[in-house]
Amino acid sequence: MKLLVTGGCGFIGSEVVHMAIARGHDVTNLDALTYAANPANLSSIDAHQRYHFIRADLRNLEETQAAIRSARPDAILHLAAESHVDRSIDAPSVFVDTNVGGTANLLQATRAYRDSLPVDDRDRFRFVHVSTDEVYGSLGETGVFTEASPYQPNSPYAASKAAADMLVRAWGKTYGLPVLITNCSNNYGPFQFPEKLIPMVILSAIRGRPIPVYGSGENVRDWLHVEDHADALLRVMESGRCGEIYNIGGDAELRNIDLVRQLCTLLDEARPAPQSYSDLITFVDDRPGHDHRYAIDAGKISRELGWRPQTDPTTGLRKTVDWYLANESWWRDILDNRYGQERLGAGTPVSTS
Ligand code: NAD
Repeated sequence: MKLLVTGGCGFIGSEVVHMAIARGHDVTNLDALTYAANPANLSSIDAHQRYHFIRADLRNLEETQAAIRSARPDAILHLAAESHVDRSIDAPSVFVDTNVGGTANLLQATRAYRDSLPVDDRDRFRFVHVSTDEVYGSLGETGVFTEASPYQPNSPYAASKAAADMLVRAWGKTYGLPVLITNCSNNYGPFQFPEKLIPMVILSAIRGRPIPVYGSGENVRDWLHVEDHADALLRVMESGRCGEIYNIGGDAELRNIDLVRQLCTLLDEARPAPQSYSDLITFVDDRPGHDHRYAIDAGKISRELGWRPQTDPTTGLRKTVDWYLANESWWRDILDNRYGQERLGAGTPVSTS
């Protein structure tokens, strides 16, 4: 298929691009190249004849329309977003502009493009919107999010993604656009921007810096390896039922503090230091509005599409630690030029340009 992937220079988008190329698809990557983008994630396929790149900003309707007309896709996988919760606390407007306004532009441009297609192509067309479990808010000690859980977003990031989900739903209901929505739990793996918990812990530890843990570290997240997420998205695109929502999760719940300790143990084994890296763990003020627990019931995608996570969390975390240890030039460039691991989300406005 000819795919248009938005946000393909990001963490998950680049994995989707790699996997789609490996599975024989033709891929156009639309990305604005914000601070979160890493074209280096795609250096191994840059020259591939089935890979194409268009620099375009979804906040600009004309650029978005031109990119779709040029790519002429059979399906769109929409991953581009402002994605870092802490930044959304400091600078919420850009989250509204990209995640809400950008998605509205993309839907508008996609509808016009699809309407221009011959009937058979129009019938085959799919629009997959990649969202997050954070739209459902926070759980107590028990329970799981299902596709029927009410939307109760708590951070500006989650609210902007929830709004985007609603727009996608509306374009499906009102204009008959064949849309599918996925809501996924926390991803981890190689190429993740150093602001997210797992790379932040690894990179703080090996640079001998305090490893900040928000609050008392009791918050629980479900972790999914990025390859499993990309596989789920391609399956939803190929075989999902239009108009449906699919929750995607790793069935791997961990308290943040336990995850941080596990990473320190893996680092103690992989790169022994005079003292355990866990000595660097430092509890800091909690994130405002910090959700307590997320957990996903991924039964629907498992029953309907036969998808299950393949990566065992311990193996996945070990491989991720090894990847960051082996790829210093990748993260050094980011830390030196774009993000020096300063605390975000504590109320100080930042620039996200
Ligand atoms: P990321 O921040 O690593 O990458 C986002 C990409 O989108 C970047 O390459 C950036 O340049 C691009 N982008 C941002 N604004 C744009 C705009 N206006 N126009 C065009 N491109 C733009 O994000 P990620 O972690 O790879 O997440 C991808 C998607 O998956 C997001 O929609 C996110 O909400 C969702 N998601 C992420 C996770 C997670 O754990 N990372 C979990 C569930 C869902």
